[in-house]
Formats: sequence, C-alpha cells, structure tokens
Amino acid sequence: MTRRRRQSKSTSTSESYLTAVVANAAGEIVELEGFAAVGMAGPLRLPLTVRQARPIPHGSEFMFLPDRCPVVFDIDAGELVTLHENPYAPGEPVFPVAAFNSPGYVITWLCCYEENAGADFLPLFSYGAVGWHGEGFYTAVQQVDRERRQDLRLMPRKKVEGGVRHFQKQMPANRLRRHLEKCALEYGCPAAKNFFIGRCEAPLPTAPACNARCLGCLSLQKDSPIPCSQDRIDFTPAPEEIAEVALAHIERVPDGVVSFGQGCEGDPLLAAEAIEPAVRLIRRQTDQGTINLNTNASLPETVARLFDAGMNSMRVSINSLREACYAAYFRPQGYHFADVMGSIEEALARGGHVALNYLNLPGFTDTPEEYAALAAFLEERPIQLIQWRNLNYDPLRYYAAMDAVAAHGTPMGVAQLLKRVKKRFPNLKHGYFNPSLTP
Ligand code: SF4
Repeated sequence: MTRRRRQSKSTSTSESYLTAVVANAAGEIVELEGFAAVGMAGPLRLPLTVRQARPIPHGSEFMFLPDRCPVVFDIDAGELVTLHENPYAPGEPVFPVAAFNSPGYVITWLCCYEENAGADFLPLFSYGAVGWHGEGFYTAVQQVDRERRQDLRLMPRKKVEGGVRHFQKQMPANRLRRHLEKCALEYGCPAAKNFFIGRCEAPLPTAPACNARCLGCLSLQKDSPIPCSQDRIDFTPAPEEIAEVALAHIERVPDGVVSFGQGCEGDPLLAAEAIEPAVRLIRRQTDQGTINLNTNASLPETVARLFDAGMNSMRVSINSLREACYAAYFRPQGYHFADVMGSIEEALARGGHVALNYLNLPGFTDTPEEYAALAAFLEERPIQLIQWRNLNYDPLRYYAAMDAVAAHGTPMGVAQLLKRVKKRFPNLKHGYFNPSLTP
C-alpha cells in the first residue's frame, strides 16, 4: 500500500490528533486532514491522539480491509463518521487501513470500521489502529518486549542461505532440518531463520495433529471460510533428528532456546512419544540451553513427564481464564479447561518456568470480567511471565463468538489493564518472547 496525498477541508485541525488514513480501491493510503483516526475496543470508539500512539515499529505492515467502511472523527463537527466514500472525492470508495504490528508490541486500540452486508471473514492477522502525525505513521500499541529476536534486519538472506548450506553438510539426512529449510526460505519464518543463522530461539516442529480446533488456528482451518497461513508439518521427526537439531543450536547459542510448538504444526503434546526421548537425549549431552514447549497444555500427565525428562519451560496459549470463553475459542477435543490448569500446576510443582501466551484483543481482554478471571488465576497459580500476543482473528467476529457465551462490561483499555496487572502482581514479568533461562 502506498501513501498518496493529503486532502484537507479546514484549517482548525487539533495538533495532537492522529490524522485519519484510509485506502482507495487501488490500495493507496490517503490522509484525510480534518478527520482524526479512531480506535475501537468493543463498544468503545476513541478519537486517537499522539498520547495513545507511537511511531509505527519497523517491520509492521499495513492491512487493507475489504467490504468494510472506515469510522473516523470529524474534528470540526466533533462527531464520529462512517465513511462510505472519500469526503474529498464524492463517489470514490474508501476502505479502512489497519496496522499488523511487529512482534513485541501489544495493540491498545483496534482499527475502527463497520462491516458491509455480506462481508467475508478477515484473514488471520491483527488489526491495530493507525493514523498520520507529523512526518510519519503512528499506531496505538504499547511495547512489551525490547528484544530484537524477530527483527528481520538482523536476518540477511545471505546469512540464512549460508546456514542452510552448512547444515545440509552437517546433517544431510535430517528431515527436520529439511523442513526448517522450507520454513526459512519459503515461508520466511523468523524462528527457522534464527536456527540457520545461529541466534536466539530455534523451532522444533513435531506434531501433525492437534486436540483443539481454535477459531484462529494458523495451520488448520477446517470447514472454515478463512484461509490458513501455513501448512502443517506432515510427519513427526525421530527423537534423534529432533535432538540433533536442538544440540546443534545449543552448541552455537549456549543461552539459546529450543522450542516445540510452532505455527506450522498441531500441538506438540500429541507427539510426546518422540519429544520425551528427544529431551532425554539432549539433556544426556548438555545442561545448557532452554528447552521450551509452546502448547495448549491439554495433557497434564504428559506435561509432567516432559518436565521430568529435562524440559525447562512451558508457554500456554490461552485467550481467556473463563472456561466458557476458552472453550468457545479453543473448541477442545477430548480435554477440558481444568486439564490446562492441571498442566500449569504440574509444571509449577516441578519448578518449571510457566508463561501465558495471552491472546489479547482490545474490547474483550480489557473487560472487567476478563481482568477478574486473570487476577484470580494469577493469585492461585504464580506463573512467571505473560506474553502479550495480539489475537490474529477478525475482531468483530471474535466479539460475537465471545458475546454468545458470556457477558462483558465496559472495557478499561489495554494500557490500563497492563497498569493494573503490573501493580497487583509486581513479581510477574511481561514480554513477548520465550526467555532464555540459562544463568
Ligand atoms: S492449539 Fe494450536 S495447532 Fe491446535 S488448533 Fe489451536 S492454534 Fe491450531
């Protein structure tokens, strides 16, 4: 999408407002002076100022929202307006523009829009509010992690290709290595690139199957109008193949992290028959590195076995600490919310590091009911970290799915939610990435 040009109607613009931006049918971004960008959080609509936003982080992308009308704030009239055409070019259709922000930034206000009749689902991205101020785009986010783990500027293609050639020689028969090559070179997966470059965290996908049916699953959208963003791995590597890749990474990055449970697979707990012996093989060779499991934590006994085998940390994906809202999103097959809580207890009882992969959506996560459930959970289970992840799912459809199963009061705002959690749980860490636990 390219910025086209400024269009203005009056002189009395308020300096601190973010100027609204919309897209025309050609995908060009048009700045509408005299109109302010509006943030959405459930029923809330807020004209945005620079105080609620920051310059858009490097690597963020602009999203064009088809079959929808942008909602902006007419500064002169002092009112919200749903735009069905360009106010400066009558008859010219305009579309909402949103920001898909880089890792490490949690969305505080969503792009505000209204759906046209018959609109399709939006694809699996997050849709942050964006506007223009001074000489650049601004977006309504808060930084929760300063680590440049997935900063693409630190992953030059040449370096990745060099690493690919290196491991082709070092482990020619390793199927997992071959799968990661495709992830790095074709899908552009930052985690796979980091393996070949030898930095931070390496991925260990193992599971073709899953026992959940998340509404926003990136790797499987069955009987769904939403396209999934990547194919699932279709085999489970042998324990020796897993250990070989993991050890190669830990040898190069002693404080590195190796993680089961990636976007290109189901849930690793369903591949524990391969993972448990692999973890034992790794720990027989080294006590370095952090072995992490990204999971839906559905199988407490399996979680206990993996920590006993030498795993160090677990990140539990969760959209809500209220069972009804959890079930409406994860659609568990053969397990229950209580099992997820049981897995967390097993991990904490073994001294494991536990993080929530907290799927955040302004207008839902920052409601009083969600906050109360989160606080009650944290009181009972003193986990170490919340990873604030922007939910990659159609916001209005998500609200509808959650409203169908539970009541929601007025959102407090994600910035306020973060403040309250930090104040009430001062020992709890906040971030985005799986931490290295190597001292
Ligand atoms: S737990 Fe993961 S793999 Fe399973 S359905 Fe949910 S997003 Fe997909």
